[in-house]
Amino acid sequence: NHQILLASRPQGEPSTENFRLAEVPVPELGDGQVLVRNHFLSLDPYMRGRMNDTKSYAEPQPLNQVMMGGTAGEVLASKNANFAVGDKVVGMGGWQDYFVVDASQRGVLQKVDTTHIPLSAYLGAVGMPGVTGWYGLVKIINPKAGETVVVSAASGAVGGVVGQLAKARGARAVGLAGGADKCRYVVEELGFDACIDYKQHADLKSLSAALKAACPNGIDGYFENVGGMILDAVMLRANAFSRIAMCGMISGYNGQPIPMMAPQLMLVNRMKVEGFIVSEHMEVWPEALKELGGLVATGKLKYRESVAQGIAAAPEAFLGLLKGKNFGKQLVQLV
Ligand code: NDP
Repeated sequence: NHQILLASRPQGEPSTENFRLAEVPVPELGDGQVLVRNHFLSLDPYMRGRMNDTKSYAEPQPLNQVMMGGTAGEVLASKNANFAVGDKVVGMGGWQDYFVVDASQRGVLQKVDTTHIPLSAYLGAVGMPGVTGWYGLVKIINPKAGETVVVSAASGAVGGVVGQLAKARGARAVGLAGGADKCRYVVEELGFDACIDYKQHADLKSLSAALKAACPNGIDGYFENVGGMILDAVMLRANAFSRIAMCGMISGYNGQPIPMMAPQLMLVNRMKVEGFIVSEHMEVWPEALKELGGLVATGKLKYRESVAQGIAAAPEAFLGLLKGKNFGKQLVQLV
């Protein structure tokens, strides 16, 4: 069983040196346990936070242990009546080829139906990132038809879902993404009304002018994935009583300062700003996954994946995710 361990904690930007490849035997199965072969690892921005040893909403990733993370795979052996060999499952299998889990605890391993939905989608649009987009859009922004919703990291796993759900609710969806290819995809494939390549705008004035052009009626809802200048530029164009779903601020995950003048504008615009962590809202997952699963199964919700091959490629792919080298949901394929 090949595994990727956290070897050391990064100072600032992480490197492949912070990870180590190890090989251990596959453990024997005990009663109630299930052996899973991971087919896909999910790489997610939150993992950068867990590499630090600082207090946060998530526990730090322990050193010299398998990198934690969501996985999708297949049951290879089972001593649990609820799981049979061949079942497709998602769980928190970590960065390794195989894992053994006590599946008698509710929720640690979920069976998934791959008849109409590909297995990998359960780590993206029909999984945690999809529910994240759903929660922030539906429960916090709650757009009315005709309102304008702006989304940063719009071509990504979460952002792509947000804009499409906003469109489905009759709102105008405007994305921000890095580069012409990503912006073209966001408009032409995902169906956003417009997408701004923020890399073409070096200062606040220029970015805010681009937002003004893309959002002629101002901004009613903002789904925040990035932070910094993008947030300030959106705030300058925000309407009275607009809402912000504070989902992530990836531009600061390596410890970069994220300067913001936001508080004054929150008052001026009488805004509602709400942060959230999707795993603390398990009550909405069934409703969200039902909508997302239905939309993916019928081809109405589009998504894209960046797939690295083999466990050894996971660290490099993860570092790329933090720099925007991914284009869509970042996965590692093992089988
Ligand atoms: P993505 O698939 O969107 O990948 C990350 C993207 O972030 C990159 O592709 C890149 O896109 C963009 N990015 C990286 N660095 C910067 C930067 N300095 N400035 C601007 N953009 C940058 O990842 P996810 O969809 O998985 O996650 C999106 C956000 O959602 C993250 O902030 C994440 O932490 C957050 N999140 C929060 C959750 C919650 O419960 N609150 C749960 C899940 C995710 P580009 O090339 O366009 O710049």
